[in-house]
Amino acid sequence: MKKWNLIIDVDNCTNCNMCTLASKDEHVGNAFPGYSAEMPKRGAEWIKIEKKERGQTPMIDIGYIPTMCQHCDDAPCMKVAKNNAITKRNDGIIIIDPEKSKGQKQIVDSCPHGSISWNEELKIPQIWFFDAHLLDKGWKEPRAVSVCATDAMKSLKVDDKEMQKIVQKEKLEILNPEYNTSPRVYYKNLFRYNKCFIGGSVAIIKNKIEDCISGANVKLCKNSQTIDELQTDDFGDFKFDKLPANSGEYEIEIEYKSIKKSIKLNLNDSLFLGNIYI
Ligand code: SF4
Ligand code: SF4
Repeated sequence: MKKWNLIIDVDNCTNCNMCTLASKDEHVGNAFPGYSAEMPKRGAEWIKIEKKERGQTPMIDIGYIPTMCQHCDDAPCMKVAKNNAITKRNDGIIIIDPEKSKGQKQIVDSCPHGSISWNEELKIPQIWFFDAHLLDKGWKEPRAVSVCATDAMKSLKVDDKEMQKIVQKEKLEILNPEYNTSPRVYYKNLFRYNKCFIGGSVAIIKNKIEDCISGANVKLCKNSQTIDELQTDDFGDFKFDKLPANSGEYEIEIEYKSIKKSIKLNLNDSLFLGNIYI
């Protein structure tokens, strides 16, 4: 059985918001009986672009993370819904019935991913439902996907075994794995959201003139073991990425010609060490 999945590449998202707007254009003022009531004109975003800023000036990295209903296979929202108000279709898409869910505000709080919005006027919970109404008419992808000019968002209908192969091959991750909800939305390059970096710039002062050092060897060590190693770039910069937040003590060892320097640090969040003079 083939099912729908979404793959979002954080590296490709430019925060253009076209996916959010396409979803509003499709659903504000438009009800699709059997799928959803209309989206409120103001205050609701079924697709949101979250922002994650890492590091300090001048080494700053901003990642944009589109979020929406994750179409979980083990969906907590289904467990609290009364009257069979939430169903999972055979193709993996979650639908909240706009009639049966009326007045069931508890559904909003049940979603650990924060993906459900409450339509105060109609008193119903609502989600981005993968534009199932369009897919059922023969569309090849939801509108949000069709407007994404950078291919940051891709939808694909494959069986779960095939999807797991893609997950392995493309090193995809899910949001909030600790909730164990088995999402059908996968992310690529999610380290820009959930991991940290240590960066710095190696320089030297000669005859009162400051110069950056390219090609200096920099090692990242933990518990006296080298865990990564690289050379500074043309601007003397180095950056070790994909490190867990709050992961304790590290040591940076810099070696250039016969000069050696080491720095000890404690990593809580992404860290730019500034200019390091050797
Ligand atoms: S349309 Fe694509 S690039 Fe633009 S915000 Fe959405 S996912 Fe990001
Ligand atoms: S993301 Fe939330 S609303 Fe969507 S299926 Fe999972 S638990 Fe339900």
